[in-house]
Amino acid sequence: MSSVEAKLQQVRTRIATACETSQRPVQSVTLLAVTKTFGPLAVRDALAAGQRAFGENYVQEALDKMAALADLRPRLEWHLIGPLQSNKTRAVAEAFDWVHAVDRLKLAQRLSEQRPAVLPPLQVCLQVNISGEASKSGVAPGEVEALARSIAALPRLQLRGLMAIPEPIDGSEAQRRPHRALRELLEALNSHGLALDTLSMGMTGDLEAAVLEGATLVRVGTAIFGARAPVA
Ligand SMILES: *Cc1c(COP(=O)(O)O)cnc(C)c1O
Repeated sequence: MSSVEAKLQQVRTRIATACETSQRPVQSVTLLAVTKTFGPLAVRDALAAGQRAFGENYVQEALDKMAALADLRPRLEWHLIGPLQSNKTRAVAEAFDWVHAVDRLKLAQRLSEQRPAVLPPLQVCLQVNISGEASKSGVAPGEVEALARSIAALPRLQLRGLMAIPEPIDGSEAQRRPHRALRELLEALNSHGLALDTLSMGMTGDLEAAVLEGATLVRVGTAIFGARAPVA
């Protein structure tokens, strides 16, 4: 068994245990393997161990990796989880299946205009600044509904839900608070007529807290691929 395979198995077990605790079916949580800073071989190892969905933060790094993995393209699902700049929207609209960190209408409009007609709609989450001023990216909770309505109306995007990166904190109760807030925000949007099914929350350090609060997609890097070298 490769070390990636063994660690993937451990992460799947963590997810399954949290699902059991919260009486949720284990299939209700999708594992996104975050491969930023790791090369194409890491993706191949994970795919060989049954992993299909991969998350990347940096557009150029992701495009290089996709090119090196072109032979596997139909079997891979690529998610952009990092911040998106407006000069990169065309490449993103052409190459990714999902974008998690949309936080402005302008970006969403460009993605919708640039999504090739031959591809299915781009799957989109809004990033919410759920921990307040500590994190700089994401929409303020009070502004999410208006933005969600505008984005849901764009033709080449499918708005799926909300994403957050809560500030790192110790203790399971403290970790659950921001995840709970994100879930309650999603529930409020749905009670106002939107139909969102995705809560993208939970990473290596807090995935149990996220699953207990309803995460449907956890983004895990370190626990699968090991520690990343610091980005220069
Ligand atoms: C890097 C990253 C992750 C994965 O973090 P780990 O702690 O390594 O699991 C998840 N989400 C986002 C947005 C990231 O940038």
